[in-house]
Amino acid sequence: MEMFVDKVRITVCGGRGGDGAVAFHREKYVAAGGPDGGDGGHGGSVILRVNDNLSTLLDFRYKRKYAAQSGQNGQGRSMSGKRGEPLIIQIPRGTVVRDAETNQIIVDMSTGEDFVIAKGGRGGWGNGHYATPTRQVPRFAKAGLKGQERDIILELKLLADVGLVGFPNVGKSTLLSVTSNARPKIANYHFTTLYPNLGVIYVDEGVSFVMADIPGIIEGAAEGAGLGYDFLRHIDRCRLLVHVVDVSGSEDRDPVEDFDAICEELKNYSVDLSNRPMIVAANKCDLLMPESDNLQRLREHVEKAGCEFYEISAGTTQGTKNLMRVVAEKLRTLPPVTIYEPEYVAPVAEAGDPNNLEIEHYGSTWLITGTWLERLVANINFDDYESRNYFDIQLRKCGLFARLEEMGIQDGDVVDIYNFEFEYQR
Ligand code: GDP
Ligand code: MG
Repeated sequence: MEMFVDKVRITVCGGRGGDGAVAFHREKYVAAGGPDGGDGGHGGSVILRVNDNLSTLLDFRYKRKYAAQSGQNGQGRSMSGKRGEPLIIQIPRGTVVRDAETNQIIVDMSTGEDFVIAKGGRGGWGNGHYATPTRQVPRFAKAGLKGQERDIILELKLLADVGLVGFPNVGKSTLLSVTSNARPKIANYHFTTLYPNLGVIYVDEGVSFVMADIPGIIEGAAEGAGLGYDFLRHIDRCRLLVHVVDVSGSEDRDPVEDFDAICEELKNYSVDLSNRPMIVAANKCDLLMPESDNLQRLREHVEKAGCEFYEISAGTTQGTKNLMRVVAEKLRTLPPVTIYEPEYVAPVAEAGDPNNLEIEHYGSTWLITGTWLERLVANINFDDYESRNYFDIQLRKCGLFARLEEMGIQDGDVVDIYNFEFEYQR
């Protein structure tokens, strides 16, 4: 049996940045050339991309870790290392991406725009960057940084305007097949639909919508594979539900009870979904016994519940065209398919926390890096006294100097902060 996979957890990892090189220019008859170690290349990023030919997350079941290529190390003669290739992960449209730890939505891959899910690490600077008039022979370079690594959950939530709900065997797949281009499996036994089917319904020139047939709630539950409820996520986004009820009384079912049971299941799954606009389609009218009061009872019950009610026979296509026209009309009045807003905010390094600063030390030179610091430096105008003063105060406040002292910095050592450098004085 074909597997339908619509929720997976994977690890994505940006490529490591290449190391900067330590090298010196060598030329015949020239005693000592300047430093010319090239920079390391940036690591490749991991990118998510929508591919409309995909309809499940099956490919992710057997491969859990996705890493982009590392950047290459820098070389002599100021040659930069090659950038790592990005890794592009193809996913079906409508995949919602969550942070595995917090379960917050990072991005809803519905619009078709690429998304960078794990950034590659920066390449380290070669020693060429660290030459100054007073330090002409820098014997150090920066190591490349690690790429971003994160655990994410991919969750497919189909993008359909209309979701078909109802008990197994009531004719949902039949209705989809006679009204759309979709060819779902139809059979006179339960458990036929084990993966969602999408169909496009063309009502008129320029008027069309997408309808989804999902495995029944009860079907899945009986399967014991945790299917039933899980499939409801595919109609989370639907703008309208069409509730199909078998009124023929076959299988000794009572349509009023069936209707209530499905409504109850929807409510258990999500109150939001149970409040979604709903149209009821009484199906298999062709099989109705003349003496049956099923249709009448269901109509009264449904209309009391505030839903529109239509009689159809998917098997003979009686009333199905009209139903689709009604659905299209109704959709015009409803808000568009839900696109989820991101809930996840990338954690920002605590402003001014010296523990978030990386300190490296080569002889008498101290290299300080860190996200907060990088941003701070970018906003300082070093030609301006006030700005410089502010910078100094920020550094003191964050405890950087205390930490440097602890590590043994000496008066006269050079502190290098993103290429802004100064001599340390107590
Ligand atoms: P689903 O489980 O809700 O998707 O139901 P299916 O579409 O697979 O239909 C179940 C069975 O009912 C199949 O044998 C269909 O041929 C039959 N069926 C569906 N709609 C009608 C109808 O309007 N009239 C009759 N007589 N049979 C129907
Ligand atoms: Mg079906």
